[in-house]
Amino acid sequence: MHDFDYRQESLYCGDVAVEEIARKVGTPFYCYSLPTLHRHIRAFEEPLAGVDHQTCFAMKANSCLAVLSYMAKQGLGADVVSGGELYRALKAGIPAGKIVYSGVGKTTNEIDMAIGAGIMMFNIESEQELEVIDERAGALGKKAPISIRVNPDVNPMTHPYISTGMKENKFGIDVEGSMTQYLRAKDMDNIEIVGIDCHIGSQLTDLSPFLDAVARLKMLIERLKDHGIVFKYLDLGGGLGITYSDEEPPHPKDYCRAILGAVGPLGLKVIFEPGRVIVGNAGILVTSVLYRKQTRDKTFVIIDAGMSDLIRPSLYGAYHDIKPLRRSNGSPRETVDVVGPICESADFLAKNRELPVLSRGDMIAVMSAGAYGFTMSSNYNSRTRPPEVLVDGSKYYVVLKRQSYEDLVSGETVPAALRGTRG
Ligand SMILES: *Cc1c(COP(=O)(O)O)cnc(C)c1O
Repeated sequence: MHDFDYRQESLYCGDVAVEEIARKVGTPFYCYSLPTLHRHIRAFEEPLAGVDHQTCFAMKANSCLAVLSYMAKQGLGADVVSGGELYRALKAGIPAGKIVYSGVGKTTNEIDMAIGAGIMMFNIESEQELEVIDERAGALGKKAPISIRVNPDVNPMTHPYISTGMKENKFGIDVEGSMTQYLRAKDMDNIEIVGIDCHIGSQLTDLSPFLDAVARLKMLIERLKDHGIVFKYLDLGGGLGITYSDEEPPHPKDYCRAILGAVGPLGLKVIFEPGRVIVGNAGILVTSVLYRKQTRDKTFVIIDAGMSDLIRPSLYGAYHDIKPLRRSNGSPRETVDVVGPICESADFLAKNRELPVLSRGDMIAVMSAGAYGFTMSSNYNSRTRPPEVLVDGSKYYVVLKRQSYEDLVSGETVPAALRGTRG
């Protein structure tokens, strides 16, 4: 469910014609719908009403300050995976006490920053990380609140690059290892055990892997109780999928209810870390057709956005629906590859896609681009990163302006010895 729809022939976001925004900011650009964001947050929060919980938005999906500020206003916390994300979360007004910190490679500086800020907890991903956090908390004269990210070894049946809870993945600590590490953590001077955590993957379209993971965590919770280890938080990660094409993922309401049912009366505060399901269908990438190119085998539609703007098709073979900003009934259709300007054969947004015939200057919307879109963008080929626009009803805000060429080289210095002309 989203807010991008046609009125007569024109694609609108809420009450704003997407073309109007394109005229103002140029293409390519990201466009987010605030009412859609709001609905998705509520769909998640409503079934949890009355349940002791905290939703910590996984901000690697979308870390736009304006979006995050809205999350903060709605009472959401954040799941961060770097010092930069922690900085953004705090800047957006998310209280440190609602921030969980995940990720296998936290640096000493990042750990110090998070301890200093007073986050809710670190999700520990290795034995050595636990030791370093104990040591840093000691050095800072603080106690570090932790949970261990348990790798429950369940197959989430998703793309291999986004499955994280199987024994061959780098994430978390296996069940027996977690047992051992909790017992060690209990004896550490500067560690406070507060929770237990898992996150098994992304774009899950079935509930059963989640429920399998919960069952394994519950068994571990029972065993740890026998050792006098009790928790405040049960963090179940994120991972609920969305519809890109014909997937039929569970509705957030059903997901929340099923999980609450499985968790049962443990008396723990439940932490969720949804990312994609909140923002994915709340955003589009708008781009213009530059050229058509016909080869013997194929028709290419070359656009002004590429894998530097949206890498999901290149990286995961991901499908994104494509809609022209201006549709015309009964216009002829053709099968094309929609490709970007970047010097890589992996630079495509759609392959063998049947679309209305597109010409130079036509604009298209790449749908469901609100999650892992802008956040995964880069400056590859020295392309400037696109602007982000947030639409609220009939108003829209440019919440990130397009990078300039000066921005591209800011921070670079050329040593004097390398400057000047050589003959
Ligand atoms: C990526 C990630 C999430 C969010 O995943 P989604 O599929 O976007 O919901 C949550 N928790 C952790 C630890 C993650 O790495």
